[in-house]
Amino acid sequence: MRRGFLIIILLFLLVNLYTSVKVEYNSQLSSEIINTEYINGIEYFNVFELNKALKAQIKEDIIDQRLKVNIYGEQIIFLLESSYLSFGTDIYNTKFSLISKGDKHFLPVIFLKEILPLLYPEKIEFSNNKIIADTPVDKSIRTIVLDPGHGGKDPGAIGYSKNNYEKDIVLKIAKTLKKDLEKNLDVDVFLTRESDEFISLQQRTLFANQCGADLFISIHINAHPNKKAHGVEVYYLSTAKTDDARAVEALENSVVYDYEGGEKAVKEYDDLAFILADMAQSEHLEESYQQALKIQHSLVKHTKARDRGVKQANFYVLRGAFMPAVLLELGYITNKEEEKKLIKFSYQDKLTKAIFEGIKDFKYKFDQMQ
Ligand SMILES: [Zn+2]
Repeated sequence: MRRGFLIIILLFLLVNLYTSVKVEYNSQLSSEIINTEYINGIEYFNVFELNKALKAQIKEDIIDQRLKVNIYGEQIIFLLESSYLSFGTDIYNTKFSLISKGDKHFLPVIFLKEILPLLYPEKIEFSNNKIIADTPVDKSIRTIVLDPGHGGKDPGAIGYSKNNYEKDIVLKIAKTLKKDLEKNLDVDVFLTRESDEFISLQQRTLFANQCGADLFISIHINAHPNKKAHGVEVYYLSTAKTDDARAVEALENSVVYDYEGGEKAVKEYDDLAFILADMAQSEHLEESYQQALKIQHSLVKHTKARDRGVKQANFYVLRGAFMPAVLLELGYITNKEEEKKLIKFSYQDKLTKAIFEGIKDFKYKFDQMQ
């Protein structure tokens, strides 16, 4: 009697453990499995399984409480903790709410079986208990542009000792980071400069746009008249919010006045074309913010440097980038102790690893590579 009961329980557990929906393609592509699980007696699946099966791009919009899922270049928007979704101008109801647990999101399987074929009638059908789909379109992060700040006639920040320059340290870090990213993340990485040469801020973003970059990361070392200032911070674009952020913004933008042609050049950066370009970047604000958060978190974790936080500022070098873009300030070279660390290979290595982890986290979250 008791044994029979145990077998029933075991069978029940096995069925629950190994439920899934099969996905076959109208092409040579080998089939995939979307794993499902029961939550409160209803069959659900982790939204990130859609990346594996349909190369979906999945983005969580913390500010708007939305989950955006892009499949075949079209966007489905879910409201967190709701059963409603929008697709174009239409609203659909999945009957059971989207459930979030930490950074995982679960959708009822009814979405796969009934809603998806409605959204993509030409591309997806559900029959014989499996999905038959057109070959998915991969839109994940493939190309990253790293921008080592300054260079050539522009040394950037100068160390407490007067012997070390920002331009040299950031170039070393960018070169190692490029190797790490290409080796481990299956991405192409391009540098705005490979040597000690001067490149205007405008050329840097232009280069990123021409590369078709999915991510732009500008790498800097900070300076402050107060020699005690220390720590790391990451910026994304907006009009500067605090006096501190304004000071860093002024410092990084001063290259335009100092080396790119004085007031006339500054005026050009402020011209209408660039104001319009700002709008290009505002489309990517949420992603830029998320990327900034990931890198800042990782920098503090790996280096134990003072956490100066994620901030917004109006950097010329981020304006006009048609992709998520952030600017890193990896420490104060004007601080005696921090300068000593920044010139050490072991500490540069820590910084590189930290940035790498931050990008990896963002990429996983952005395109949920499996
Ligand atoms: Zn700089």
